[in-house]
Amino acid sequence: MPESPYPMLSVEEALRIVLEHTPVLAPVRVPLMRALGRVLAEPLQAAEPMPPFPAAGKDGYAVVADDASTVRRVIGEQYAGYVADLRVTPGTAVRITTGAPLPPGADAVIMVELATEQDGWVTLPGKVAPGRDVRPVGEDIAAGQEVLAVGTALGPAELGLAATVGVTELSVYPAPKVAILSTGDELVEPGAPLRPGQIRDSNRFSLAAAVQAAGGEPLDLGVAGDRPGELERKVADGLAQADVLLTSGAVSMGQLDLLKPLLESWGTVHVGRVRMKPGKPLTFATVRDKPVFALPGFPVSSLATFELFARPALLKMQGHRRLLRPRVQVRLAHAIRHDPERTEYQRAVVVWREGGLWATTTGSQASSRLLSMVGANAFLILPAGEGDRAQGEAVEAMLIGEILNEP
Ligand code: AMP
Ligand code: MG
Repeated sequence: MPESPYPMLSVEEALRIVLEHTPVLAPVRVPLMRALGRVLAEPLQAAEPMPPFPAAGKDGYAVVADDASTVRRVIGEQYAGYVADLRVTPGTAVRITTGAPLPPGADAVIMVELATEQDGWVTLPGKVAPGRDVRPVGEDIAAGQEVLAVGTALGPAELGLAATVGVTELSVYPAPKVAILSTGDELVEPGAPLRPGQIRDSNRFSLAAAVQAAGGEPLDLGVAGDRPGELERKVADGLAQADVLLTSGAVSMGQLDLLKPLLESWGTVHVGRVRMKPGKPLTFATVRDKPVFALPGFPVSSLATFELFARPALLKMQGHRRLLRPRVQVRLAHAIRHDPERTEYQRAVVVWREGGLWATTTGSQASSRLLSMVGANAFLILPAGEGDRAQGEAVEAMLIGEILNEP
């Protein structure tokens, strides 16, 4: 039996090697409206305080707190966005709206619901504490404060904050361009009828989606047949256009598994076999410093190895600090079989039930069966060296989607 010349690495060791050879991309500047999901490459500082002036926190009346009068004369209005030429003195009040600057002399706001105004005079409920319903200068943000650190992933709040401190563009790490190539003479396009011996290419579509979900930009290289010239042309094309190349198929031990030798001659193969199921033939190489993931061909193997190795690498390229999915302990809703030969990643649905997390697998775990990934929100991690598991046993799960609440 022919033996692979590549050492069988553990998942952890293979991931370490992948990340070690994955570069962080050079930052670019993008307008705020296009920055969602990107990661900040420069710290963001506030030049001015927020609020920049003492502001009313409520609609009501601006008054002097240290004033014994129970009724005060309303001397005018102060709306948000203007500075009225008014001074509040004991015995007077200014009608004010939320966000308006507090007029000079005033140090408190009485909300409109607590006051009664009649014929230009306002009656207050009693004593007023100084500072009440006033937002002092810098209450939210101090001048000079760093509001976002390098490595922050930009979501709705972060982008609003950037606008608050007055920037229109941010320096961020770009989306990696990821060229995606399927390999195999048996593959046809989804729109094509099947002739004998043919199947439809699904990996290009699942992987393009996985790349987008990980913040990358997929470039479609199509299908390369199992012929050296064709494969070389497509691989060269992908490397020229993209930051990362993702292929599937042609990395096992078959006669036409041509990818490893090709990557070996053009670059360096760092990972050629991993002690995992699915995905043992996972191959990782660099060609002219660009990462190449040659994923196994079976649809589940390609998606699972993408999730475990390519996704963390794409996140690293985009400047993310947290590269790995969260892991939790779950209990098995049923017994499961597990071959102790390799670490196995079984697809499962994890639900929150009766104060705990419970996992049910998605049925047959064959590497060809994409339905085993449909609806799965977790991989159950069953380490090498340990066998079958009983119902109710605790196992580690890697969450790849949202936990469900049992209805
Ligand atoms: P390979 O590693 O090329 O021998 O492929 C392993 C298995 O995955 C074979 O049954 C292939 O037909 C299947 N396969 C490879 N690539 C794809 C693809 N892009 N879409 C669907 N199935 C594939
Ligand atoms: Mg093949």
